[in-house]
Amino acid sequence: MSNIRNFCIIAHVDHGKSTLADRFLELTGTVEHRKMKEQFLDQMDLEREKGITIKMQPVRMLWHLIEPEGSSEPERPGGSERSEGQEYVLNLIDTPGHADFSYEVSRSLAAVEGAILLVDATKGVQAQTLAHLSHAKEQGLTIIPCINKIDSPLARIEEVAKEIMKLLSISEEEIFRISAKEGTGVTELLSAVIDMVPAPRGEEAKPFRALIFDSRFDVFKGIVAFVRVVDGSLLPHEKIMLLGTDVESLVKEVGSFSPKETVQESLHAGEIGYIATGIKEPERVRIGDTISKGKNTEMLVGFQIPKPVVFVSLYPQDPNEFDALQDALSKLKLNDPSLSYEIESKEALGRGFRCGFLGVLHSEIISERIEREYKIQMVISRPSVEFSIVATNGKVLSVKVPSDWPEPSMIKSMEESWAQVEVITPGTFLSETLQFLRGFEGSKSEVEDLGEEKFLLRYEMPLRELIGDFHDKLKSVTQGMASMDYRILGMRSAHLVKLEFRIAGAIEEALSMVVPESRAYQEGKKVVEKLKEVLPPQLFEVALQATVGSKILARETISARRKDVTAPLYGGDVTRKNKLLDRQKKGKKELKAKGRVVIPTRVFLDLFRT
Ligand code: GDP
Ligand code: MG
Repeated sequence: MSNIRNFCIIAHVDHGKSTLADRFLELTGTVEHRKMKEQFLDQMDLEREKGITIKMQPVRMLWHLIEPEGSSEPERPGGSERSEGQEYVLNLIDTPGHADFSYEVSRSLAAVEGAILLVDATKGVQAQTLAHLSHAKEQGLTIIPCINKIDSPLARIEEVAKEIMKLLSISEEEIFRISAKEGTGVTELLSAVIDMVPAPRGEEAKPFRALIFDSRFDVFKGIVAFVRVVDGSLLPHEKIMLLGTDVESLVKEVGSFSPKETVQESLHAGEIGYIATGIKEPERVRIGDTISKGKNTEMLVGFQIPKPVVFVSLYPQDPNEFDALQDALSKLKLNDPSLSYEIESKEALGRGFRCGFLGVLHSEIISERIEREYKIQMVISRPSVEFSIVATNGKVLSVKVPSDWPEPSMIKSMEESWAQVEVITPGTFLSETLQFLRGFEGSKSEVEDLGEEKFLLRYEMPLRELIGDFHDKLKSVTQGMASMDYRILGMRSAHLVKLEFRIAGAIEEALSMVVPESRAYQEGKKVVEKLKEVLPPQLFEVALQATVGSKILARETISARRKDVTAPLYGGDVTRKNKLLDRQKKGKKELKAKGRVVIPTRVFLDLFRT
């Protein structure tokens, strides 16, 4: 166990975590050179396309430490001994940076003893740097501060070093400086991991205990639990027990991540690996549960599942795919317990699911994964927050999606969630950022000087404002230099109306949104204009209207379709074009049957991204 180091890399989005992981994989020869590709650990198609990490990814690396020639022996802060040529097992977990996926980060933190805190030399400390750092500290992890991208012509190494010194109350020499892209300083950093991160504490002789921090479904092996072994050891074919769900099973296989699952003869205290449980029912293998060999073992501290704040209704476009959609959701929930869903039934939409997410990006990613990985076309409602409405009969209603909004005559009063946003911005964009924040219905702004020309702004505003295009706009007014994080404050009174959209006369319930009365016109106009842009033209003229109750606030018309409908919408990809044409053929049939315009899944997502 003394030769094991478990660690993760934490940072704000794009500060170079996955690129640094690439260098570690090369350095340790974990991935063959010819198989290496950029951001290797971002294995999902969606991750590669978007250039972001969505899932944490563990990987086990073996490293024979060779002392660089002529290096003087520096002091070893971790206190652990090391000797030349010794083999180390390094378990690394690459984590996402975006706030919507911080649950992935918190679970990764629970499986390791140390964290490399990476800070981009061109951006400095950003909002998620602070958020992830404070979680890592809470877990009592050893933090290894490191400035990345020192090769960049835009690097401001000295200023960023000062920011980190202030943040962690450390001296300049304690900060590593690397270029993950070019590999500069990476060997030294990995040596520091060995020196500074404590070896896992646990007891091989004690009864087996392992914490499930992630899982996935496998048709052959059953549910594969990703675990951090705390005590004892486990062999294949041994009997295991899941303490939380009280389920027993025989182990099919154990192994480690290379990064693909690789069979091992056994799993031991201190290791990160997987256990193929043979269990087929997703609800029986819970993330955060303890796997043991018998009942008389103390449970490990699990994870608190964060509360969903963004709600979206998902309906299959083909009602026959309801079961398929349910199956997809249950499988996705396996490695993302923060996803919640319940069955919902609406006259206009049929049977579907009301889903809870940790943020809008989270909702988009899950929707896209359902479309891609499970090939289900969906009707997706506009992301919404939860509202609390007191009805005239005194009942309090919790409204999570706009389609649940009651008739205006039934509403006595209402409340909505407020959040405190924290924006970190460089001094050069301070006035732009302040002006931008004043454009929202917020209150109480507060400015804190972080030093080194960096400012932290705190602002209170309805959560509803934050789930729109807040983040994108903030980025654009600050040329990508500002970053944000938020926390929920509680409910406050509100004056809101439900804005509806009619396409060819029929209300498209999924598009409905809840807005302040004073902004209904403006929002309505924006959406019908966007609809006109993104909706595939139909065989006939289509009227688009934004309405509140019976009042029409805005309208547009899409003229009857021209010959080639795919040309203005999509690029050269033939298969996609054919697919679209097929879909349209089907759409036209449905249109005749229902007199409705069918909106493709993609169009919903495009629409909400305005
Ligand atoms: P992550 O979101 O933290 O995982 O960041 P990625 O590893 O995906 O990197 C984000 C972007 O920064 C990519 O375009 C990388 O090529 C770039 N990048 C990462 N490390 C370096 C570096 O050391 N120098 C420079 N110039 N760019 C880097
Ligand atoms: Mg990444």
